[in-house]
Amino acid sequence: MIGNELPASAANVAYGTAAEIENSACPVCETLANIDAEYFARAFGESRRFAVTSEAVTDALGFCSRHGSTLLSQEHLPRGLVRVFRGAIPRLVPVLAEKYLYEDRVQQVLFGASSSCPACAYGNRAAARHARRLARQFSSPRDHAGCLRLDSLCVRHFQLLAGDFKPEVRLPAFTQYGDALDHAATATEDLLESGRLPGARRLEEGSVALHHALELIAGRPAQGQYPDGDALAEALQCCPTLVEGLVYPKACPLCLEVGRARRRWIHDVPVAAKFKQIAWLFFPTCPEHIWPVVQLGDPQLTAMVVTHALHVAIGQIYQQILTLVRAAEINEERAQEAARFARWGKRRRRRKKVAQEPAMPRLVRCPGCERLAVAEDHATKGLLDLLQERKYRNAFNRGYGLCMKHFAQVYLMAPKGMLRATLAEDQRARLNEFTRVLDEKVRAMHDNRMAVPKELSWTMALHRFCGFA
Ligand SMILES: [Zn+2]
Ligand SMILES: [Zn+2]
Ligand SMILES: [Zn+2]
Ligand SMILES: [Zn+2]
Repeated sequence: MIGNELPASAANVAYGTAAEIENSACPVCETLANIDAEYFARAFGESRRFAVTSEAVTDALGFCSRHGSTLLSQEHLPRGLVRVFRGAIPRLVPVLAEKYLYEDRVQQVLFGASSSCPACAYGNRAAARHARRLARQFSSPRDHAGCLRLDSLCVRHFQLLAGDFKPEVRLPAFTQYGDALDHAATATEDLLESGRLPGARRLEEGSVALHHALELIAGRPAQGQYPDGDALAEALQCCPTLVEGLVYPKACPLCLEVGRARRRWIHDVPVAAKFKQIAWLFFPTCPEHIWPVVQLGDPQLTAMVVTHALHVAIGQIYQQILTLVRAAEINEERAQEAARFARWGKRRRRRKKVAQEPAMPRLVRCPGCERLAVAEDHATKGLLDLLQERKYRNAFNRGYGLCMKHFAQVYLMAPKGMLRATLAEDQRARLNEFTRVLDEKVRAMHDNRMAVPKELSWTMALHRFCGFA
């Protein structure tokens, strides 16, 4: 389809101005723009919150990789960091005692570790609050028209809002949003066909269509970009396999394996772009993985990935529309049945089993996420196999050991007996070491020494709760 055949709204987007890009930003992403800075300033800057932060850090066993790297840059809040981790470590000791492994709370912490992060939870709560407000506005007939343009919402936040829409506006909202995604995908396809793509690394001055499509599918990255994972470059060079990673003193061996898988995947994305048939196996569909591809700076690749992700999102929306239509049919059947009973003038004793309302289909998993999860599982099993042998246990003991989140993963999968006990003991020793570093930091702050002699050991200790991505 060529540009001037586009429907009016999409054509405006394709040839719009920078001001229009600004106006079309997702309102939920906008509220989240400073949320990370706000979280860290409060959680590690306001002393009355330190205890709550300690508890949250314990429950989540640290931070996700994105917020982990933000935490590492909070050197201006040393008092908060020290107080929070000093509070967290004694709380963690029972979690690491093997005899409590099957306690509900311990299981909750260990099983939840891979997906929980106190800073993400803070942002998600703010997003949910804002989304509820917008959904209420959108659902009220009075405000409905002017207040919220659905096509300004990124996919993630549209899905968040959709859960709060009143039933009567749900179907029109999904249809309208599906159309908006469809227009955006048509516009990027048109760009790809016509070759009118902007120059590399100049997306912001280039095509508004591509920019709009990217914002729809990936939202706005909160404060800066997603980390590029290059922090591990040196470590990966030193450790070509898990065996070397085991004894490496500066990083968690599972973080290394995930980092390696991430590099391999990002390297494979442009290769896959040359072979359209396999692109769906590699092209990312979630913001965390779309942004690193955008950062490669190839507009052609960006347009391909964005178009693909839009089509996946459109497929998802259509599935949801089908589910809503089916639910409406079931309600209609129920209403008819109720009307029949009313005509008979009495209630039937045993009600016929009415079909259940269908559940909304689950969101499709992004291939980037999938690959990293597979690599992580594979590395976990590989590590447990190696640790069966004494020489590798000794090597592991000499190395950095596991970050808290990977410890949870390995510990849960370890067979009962010597290996599991060794893992728990090893991790307790690492936490004791962290306590020692914390004490050293406190002494340094007392003496008012600006440069702490072993600053590196402090950062390395923090990594235990931040991962290495
Ligand atoms: Zn958004
Ligand atoms: Zn997080
Ligand atoms: Zn790790
Ligand atoms: Zn992903």
